[in-house]
Amino acid sequence: MGNLYKYIKVDRDLCIGAASCIAVYPEIFELDEENKAVLKIKDGAKTSDKSEIKVLSVESVDDDKLLLAAQSCPTAAIYLYSEDGSQLYPEG
Ligand code: SF4
Repeated sequence: MGNLYKYIKVDRDLCIGAASCIAVYPEIFELDEENKAVLKIKDGAKTSDKSEIKVLSVESVDDDKLLLAAQSCPTAAIYLYSEDGSQLYPEG
């Protein structure tokens, strides 16, 4: 089963450390020492950079939950992209 979202990014300049994303999807997001959200990667690394969904620390990513996490962010700091790199969230 394919995922709609292929890439994800956290804009660290926008992130205010509200941790809503972590409340929704703690397997994927956590706060770093600067109180900015980072993505948990399979090999134990963490990054806020644009990353492939498939490298995230979970076995399979729940698209609905990921979108919910992005939507929960008060500053819309979480970006979701399709296979061809076009931005699916936030829309327009
Ligand atoms: S919900 Fe947004 S502001 Fe809060 S930690 Fe996550 S990315 Fe940062």
